[in-house]
Amino acid sequence: MTSALSPHHDFDCQSCGACCAYSAEWPRFSLETEEELEQIPADHVAADLGGMRCENDRCTALEGTLGKFVACKVYAVRPIVCRTCMPGDDECLMARQRLFGAAA
Ligand code: SF4
Ligand code: SF4
Repeated sequence: MTSALSPHHDFDCQSCGACCAYSAEWPRFSLETEEELEQIPADHVAADLGGMRCENDRCTALEGTLGKFVACKVYAVRPIVCRTCMPGDDECLMARQRLFGAAA
């Protein structure tokens, strides 16, 4: 989605990644079934099995360079919260603000 407030940014997730590097506590699992969780590679799952494993606030399934080019290594089986996060929504704006500051 393109925000009328930010005409210079088109919220292109593949050149952003801010919400995937927002917090060591995110993303957490929620309503996924056991079958869905089993499809996520174990080395990307947190030790407490409650979410994705992060290193320095960044989800380990995120590859690439923040703000340039990024991709989710588990895109087809990513957690529900990753699916519901929408470019331009409040969480997106918060993540971008934290990572890119005023330039977000
Ligand atoms: S912060 Fe927004 S624009 Fe950036 S990857 Fe997440 S949803 Fe996409
Ligand atoms: S699972 Fe994929 S979409 Fe979700 S936070 Fe990690 S890299 Fe981002």
